Amino acid sequence: MIRTFLFTVALISAMAFQVQAQVPALLSLRYNENYSPTYDEVIELYRLLDRSYSEGTLLEAGQTDTGKPLHVFVISRNGEISPEVLREQGKTILLVNNGIHPGEPEGIDASLEFADDILRNKDGMNKWLDNTAIVIIPVYNIGGALNRSAWNRSGQTTPYETGFRGNYGNLDLNRDFVKCDSENARSFSKIFHHWNPDVFLDTHTTNGSDHQHAITMIPPQADQFPKAMQGLIREILLPGLYAEMDKGDYPLIPYVDFFYEDVRSGLRGGQESPRYSSGYATTFHSLGMMTENLIYATYPDRVKSTYEFIKALSMFTSENSEIILAARKAGISESMALDRYPIRYEIDTTRHQMITFHGYENDRQQISQVTGLPRLGYDRSRPFTAKIKYFDTYQPVEWVEVPEYFVLPRAWKPVMDRLALNQVEFTELPNDTTIEVTVDYFEEVTSPTRPYNGHFFHDKVITRSEVQNVQFYAGDWLIPVRQERIRFIMEVLEPLSRDSYFRWNFFDAVLDQREYFSSFGFEENALRTLEQFPELKKALEEKRKNDPEFAKNHRAQLQFIYENSPWLEKTWKRNPVAKIYNR
Ligand SMILES: [Zn+2]
Repeated sequence: MIRTFLFTVALISAMAFQVQAQVPALLSLRYNENYSPTYDEVIELYRLLDRSYSEGTLLEAGQTDTGKPLHVFVISRNGEISPEVLREQGKTILLVNNGIHPGEPEGIDASLEFADDILRNKDGMNKWLDNTAIVIIPVYNIGGALNRSAWNRSGQTTPYETGFRGNYGNLDLNRDFVKCDSENARSFSKIFHHWNPDVFLDTHTTNGSDHQHAITMIPPQADQFPKAMQGLIREILLPGLYAEMDKGDYPLIPYVDFFYEDVRSGLRGGQESPRYSSGYATTFHSLGMMTENLIYATYPDRVKSTYEFIKALSMFTSENSEIILAARKAGISESMALDRYPIRYEIDTTRHQMITFHGYENDRQQISQVTGLPRLGYDRSRPFTAKIKYFDTYQPVEWVEVPEYFVLPRAWKPVMDRLALNQVEFTELPNDTTIEVTVDYFEEVTSPTRPYNGHFFHDKVITRSEVQNVQFYAGDWLIPVRQERIRFIMEVLEPLSRDSYFRWNFFDAVLDQREYFSSFGFEENALRTLEQFPELKKALEEKRKNDPEFAKNHRAQLQFIYENSPWLEKTWKRNPVAKIYNR
């Protein structure tokens, strides 16, 4: 009896508490003092939320280059932390990544405040958990966050101390989602596929130009998604986010990328390829986007605007859960049926929409107090508001045919590891076998002279294809392309794709010729080759007749024989990933 009585009292007082007063905030952040918490402080604050609220759970989620683990903070109804259970309940999942560039920490502060507020049900926010679970990566680039100083970020005056852009391995982690050089990226892939977020946000800060908007957004670029998802992006998500932000103090605009010299000529929407977080999310039919706070706005405004954005996005995700899940499902089916895959897009200058831009007049003759010389500046005493064009339509201009299978020889283990991390389905060939496949030869490959993020990224690649019988071995991978991961597979295994493993140097060994001939030693075999292939002999004689220089050149003639006979190794410049088409 006593027990029941006590229980009743507890229940009544809990209910009364809910009705009568707002639970006070647990965390007191110091962004108003231009202070962003250190990495250790951030984790300590999430621990406090974890201890205080049953619907907030802090979990370790894989390693980073520093040897310190990544964390995720899961905000979910009844503290459910199984994505399978959440899916069964019909919930959408929103993943928010912070501190990939630790000098851009607004999202770190904003996510903490948001977590505190949704857990204490400020303004009824907690109801969003009915349809959505929110997963926050508190700080992704831990190495960069620990490398904290007042001397990082020369273009930024606040907060007074920030982390460093590179991670412990000096990588820009927002270029690492395909090549996965860092332990951070490998853990991120696992987190991403464990949660399989329907919506994904990565928080950043930008310094390109000055204007009145504390926050800008790199939205999901609709044309990179299947048609079944484009309406959701163009007609529901983006208008919804802009309208919601317009209600508050921080009107949102797209990332400020001038179409021409002057902002009044319009802004262009960007397209993120899979090396970037949002582009990576896109390949998995997840609505991936970035916020880019304006570096010249005050730190409190930057944090508060990001907070408002996370709120708006959570509300959108929750209120549109059914539509999002249905569109994503339809989008995946549509992708799996693709006959050809776009590998290059161009912006469509004939289509635009109008947006309201609050800017400052710029002044190319402002006198620098440092050098006494003219510099580009913005005159904050001359604000303006203008309707400007925003170009955000892209047209695919180059495609490749979608094969039914890729065959990946087991020699390319680092590629296998990355496909496995991304949960690509495959079968192993049970026996050594010869298969008739289509192979690509690299006709032209160019790379920069200096490395970019630890690689000599192949910026220009031209291929030609050939059908060949190729020897494969037991344990090589047969990868069916028509699976849920089809877009990722096409982005990384098709060598011409923007961020293919070939471009990122994973197959560079095939660019070397392993065998060759000597002008002296090839004599006997060259003679035998001409006897064996009379048509080659005829071609050689023909060339000697028509080309006097060639007729006088011993080595050139041997080379002609070598390169037009089976002596030339078939594997040289041949992409090891073979294709099987269903023609
Ligand atoms: Zn950034």
